[in-house]
Amino acid sequence: MPAPVDPRPLTGEPISLDLLNTRWVQDGGRRDLFDADDGLRIWLAANGLDDRFPADVTTLRHLLTARDALSAVADTPDNPAGITRVDAVLAHGRIRATLSAEGPGERAEFDDPSWGPAWTAARNYLELLSAAPDRIRKCAHDACVLHFFDTSRNGTRRWCSMAACGNRAKASRHYARTHGS
Ligand SMILES: [Zn+2]
Repeated sequence: MPAPVDPRPLTGEPISLDLLNTRWVQDGGRRDLFDADDGLRIWLAANGLDDRFPADVTTLRHLLTARDALSAVADTPDNPAGITRVDAVLAHGRIRATLSAEGPGERAEFDDPSWGPAWTAARNYLELLSAAPDRIRKCAHDACVLHFFDTSRNGTRRWCSMAACGNRAKASRHYARTHGS
């Protein structure tokens, strides 16, 4: 059975940021994908993990641990408590080097499969840090809590989406100009 439609305003970011983007603001209220009964199933499917990991309460608990930890380091990268929490999530898995008929490879192994999605998200965050830490961004709109990895050529992306926050920011600048504040 296919997963229900993903209700989030921003999807398709790397999995670590996609985990952060399970929280968003809509109509002035905070939303959380995981508040919905099928939220975990939607998120696992969106990240191609639904065939390997069960959408159960333990998996969700570990994912929430990873989300809080990643949220702490995304907003304050040198925050020692956040670093310790992300590292603690990473301790639940490891990379096993492999050789198969297809050649050399790597496989993730977990203490317990319920840590798989949480560990995968934390591991992805390390990849983003290695690639371009300055391109891990929060949307520049004050009221928006979404995160993205800026893959634009010049590194000038500021908004989760131009259609939503970019235009809201333009409109409020215009309002400020025309109303003399
Ligand atoms: Zn935004």
